[in-house]
Amino acid sequence: MPERRTTTPQKAPHLSALDVALTQFDAAADKLRLDDRWRALLRVPQRELRVQFPVVMDDGSVRMYTGYRIQHNLARGPAKGGIRYHPDVTRDEVCALAMWMTWKCAVVNIPYGGAKGGVAVDPKKLSTRELERLTRRYASEISIIIGPEQDIPAPDVGTDAQVMAWIMDTYSMQKGHAVPGVVTGKPPSLGGSLGRTQATGQGVAIATREAMKRQKKPLTGAKVVVQGCGNVGSYAARFLDALGCKVVGVSDSTAGLFNPKGLDVGSVLQFKEANNSLADYRGSAETVTNAELLELPCDVLVPAAMENQLTAANARRVKAKLVVEGANGPTTPEAEAILEDGGALVVPDVLANAGGVLVSYFEWVQDLQFHFWTLDEVNRRLEETMTRACAEVSARSERDKTNFRTAAYLLAIERVAEAIRLRGIYP
Ligand code: GLU
Repeated sequence: MPERRTTTPQKAPHLSALDVALTQFDAAADKLRLDDRWRALLRVPQRELRVQFPVVMDDGSVRMYTGYRIQHNLARGPAKGGIRYHPDVTRDEVCALAMWMTWKCAVVNIPYGGAKGGVAVDPKKLSTRELERLTRRYASEISIIIGPEQDIPAPDVGTDAQVMAWIMDTYSMQKGHAVPGVVTGKPPSLGGSLGRTQATGQGVAIATREAMKRQKKPLTGAKVVVQGCGNVGSYAARFLDALGCKVVGVSDSTAGLFNPKGLDVGSVLQFKEANNSLADYRGSAETVTNAELLELPCDVLVPAAMENQLTAANARRVKAKLVVEGANGPTTPEAEAILEDGGALVVPDVLANAGGVLVSYFEWVQDLQFHFWTLDEVNRRLEETMTRACAEVSARSERDKTNFRTAAYLLAIERVAEAIRLRGIYP
């Protein structure tokens, strides 16, 4: 049997997500001439909870798991952010992801602070019953700090609508009544919003469209490569395809596919859904490794897998002149500088993938009112808010002669700092 080349996205060993998040923050703080007191306040999470808990496995054995819920900033409203199930979850990674949520919510101007949760576990190795027990126990452990007015989790890497349903049920059982607003990204039959599942990928497509306008390049026929075929990547590919782009490359953790004439996106995604892997796809495409995928000839690259994918080691070989961050933290600061020196525009995660948390906000508003919107209404508001946020970041980047990331951070930090300043320091 031929050896299968591994395409699993690799993490750069020396740079943690937290290093990346803090470097990005410092660049914007320098530009804002933020004094040391503000930096000290915004560089650290406001609250962090680590939980260590047992789960009974199907064979009767008991395993210990470690989880986190970290609230970076609560000035603008309840904390908001997803829950990640992945073997590499660490305190520092969750902290970085929580910080990015603070800026993301502020960039699209929704009344939330930022948070993130995670459990160090490979969910693919658990049975459904084990996953449910793990989720319910973790939800119970963090229930001391979550709630519709305090902190509202949502899906992230390795979690989905079913996991959110279990969290909603666990929390509701403890309260004695249904509390749909405690999580977002639930199934619509439990108070989930129409359009939430696809919202992140849809927002990535809107951000790509707006960035192409700024670059004065046509969207129709633009060659797109999408790394990652999870919730974000698969819907990004679908929406970009629908906008008239030519999706020439896609990958998941098992394989990368390339066809310079354009892939049949519908058939690739159907295959992925049926087989849970792209590895044995037999349609017209050649197989590439994850490393090769990022360097394919294309106009737009959408890294929608994990952190630290574009690094100093490969950025020089990236051909795309537009990078739209579907994932959180896929580009290191060094890689970003190299890409920009080469004339590429990078649309940062805190803007590019904000469609997810935006529709999460719509879901929470609907849950609090027990009044639900049509899909058209959700889409109209998503379109309107994403387009406005893109325009604001673009205008700020022109005004302050800085890149999109720093421009987005400037907007976000100002909004968060304004809230803190007006509230004052308690007591
Ligand atoms: N996990 C997603 C993110 O990183 C969504 C968070 C949410 O909807 O609260 O933005």
